[in-house]
Amino acid sequence: MKSLQLPVVELSEEIRKVRREIREFIFQELEKGTIQPRCDSWLSGYSAEFSRMLGERGWIGMTWPKRYGGHERSSIERYVVIEELLAAGAPVSAHWIADRQTGPLLLKFGTEHQKEFFLPQIAKGECFFAIGLSEPNAGSDLAAVSSRAVKVEGGWVLNGSKTWTSGAHHAHYMITLCRTSPMNPEKRHEGMSQLLVDLAAPGVTIRPIELMTGEHHFNEVFFDNVFIPDEMVVGQIGNGWKQGMAELAYERSGPERFLSTFPLLEELLRALREKGDKRLIAQVSPMLSRLWTLRQMSIGIANMLEQGVTPDLVAALVKDMGTKFEQQVAEVARLLVACSPSITSSSQFDKFMAESILHSPGFTLRGGTTEILRGIVAKGVIGQ
Ligand SMILES: Cc1cc2nc3c(=O)[nH]c(=O)nc-3n(C[C@H](O)[C@H](O)[C@H](O)COP(=O)(O)OP(=O)(O)OC[C@H]3O[C@@H](n4cnc5c(N)ncnc54)[C@H](O)[C@@H]3O)c2cc1C
Repeated sequence: MKSLQLPVVELSEEIRKVRREIREFIFQELEKGTIQPRCDSWLSGYSAEFSRMLGERGWIGMTWPKRYGGHERSSIERYVVIEELLAAGAPVSAHWIADRQTGPLLLKFGTEHQKEFFLPQIAKGECFFAIGLSEPNAGSDLAAVSSRAVKVEGGWVLNGSKTWTSGAHHAHYMITLCRTSPMNPEKRHEGMSQLLVDLAAPGVTIRPIELMTGEHHFNEVFFDNVFIPDEMVVGQIGNGWKQGMAELAYERSGPERFLSTFPLLEELLRALREKGDKRLIAQVSPMLSRLWTLRQMSIGIANMLEQGVTPDLVAALVKDMGTKFEQQVAEVARLLVACSPSITSSSQFDKFMAESILHSPGFTLRGGTTEILRGIVAKGVIGQ
C-alpha cells in the first residue's frame, strides 16, 4: 500500500502570513465588487483583468524559477493562495489551466525558447491556455485520439478536432494531443505528440457548446490544415502520451477537485447559524470532517509534487473522493434549506445552489470519470 501513503503537512507561520495576505486582498476586492463570487469559479468564472491583478501580485506561476517570471515560492504557499481564491468563488478560470498544468509541463519538457517565451506571459496573467485532449470518439479511451499532424518542411500540418475544450474561446493557445504516426493497434499509446497550437492561427475554428444554463464555457475546436512550426512541439515527437500523463497528477489532486461548491457550503452554514438549529448544523458536520480530510490529502500531494514524486494513484483517489464530496454539498444543502435555485437570483444561496446543481454532473466527468479513476486506483493497488 506504499502508493497510498501521504505526508502530513504542517503549515508554518510563513505560510499563515501568505494566507493573511491573500485573504486581505480577496476581502478588499469583494468590497470593491471586482469579485462576484460563484461556484465552480475555476472553470466558469472568467475575468482577464482579475488574472492580471493576481499576476501583478505574484500569485500566478508562484513556484516557477524567477528567470522565467516565476516567484520561487513553495507548492504549499501556492496551495494556500489557490484554496483561498476558490473558497471565495473568485474568477480564476482565465489563467487556471496555464498556471496549474501548462507551466509545469513546459518546465519539465519545454525547450528553453518555449520557457522564455510562454512562462513570463503566463505568470503575468496575460497568456491563457486550453486543454486539447478529448475528441468526439476519444474521451475515457484517450488513446483513440485521431487528430493527426503530418510532417512538412519547418513544422507540422494538423487536421482533426477536439471537443469539450474549456475556455478555448478565451485562450491564446492549446496544448493539443495528436497522432504524429499512424495508430498501431498493438501499441496504441505510441505515436502521439503534444503540439502548442496558436488558437488564432489560420485553419482553427472554435464553436461554442452551450450549457443547459445558456452559459458558454466549453467548445468544439476544429483544425483544418493548421501549420504548427517545429518550435511549437512540446518535448519529443512520439512521447505525447507519457508527457500528457505526467500532467494528470497536477490536474487531479488540487483543491479545485473538492472546493467547486464551497461558496454554497459556506452559505449553507450561514443560513443554518441564522436559524440557530443545532440539529441541522450537526447534519453538516460530517461534511466538514470529510472536507478537512480531503484537504490534508490534497496538500500532502502538493508536497510530494514539490519533491519531484508523481503520485498518480493518490491524485486519482483525491479526485474521485473530492468530486463526489462537492456534488454532495448541493444535495445536503437542498435537503436542509428551502430555496428557489436560479442563476440570476439576488439571493446568494439560491444562486450558488443553481450553479452547484447545474454544474455538478460535470464534476465526476471532467479530468477523468469516476469509473476510470477507480480503475487506476484498483490497478495501482493490485499491481503492488
Ligand atoms: C465540465 C467539463 C469540462 C471539460 N473540459 C475539457 C477540456 O478542457 N479539455 C478536454 O480535452 N476535455 C474536457 N472535458 C472532457 C472530459 O475529459 C471527458 O468528458 C471525459 O474524459 C469523459 O469522456 P467522454 O465524455 O467521451 O465519455 P466516455 O468516455 O464516452 O464515457 C461515458 C461513460 O462511460 C464510462 N466508461 C468509459 N470507459 C469506461 C471503462 N473502460 N470502464 C468503465 N466505465 C467506462 C465513463 O466513466 C462514463 O460514465 C470536459 C468535460 C466536462 C464535463
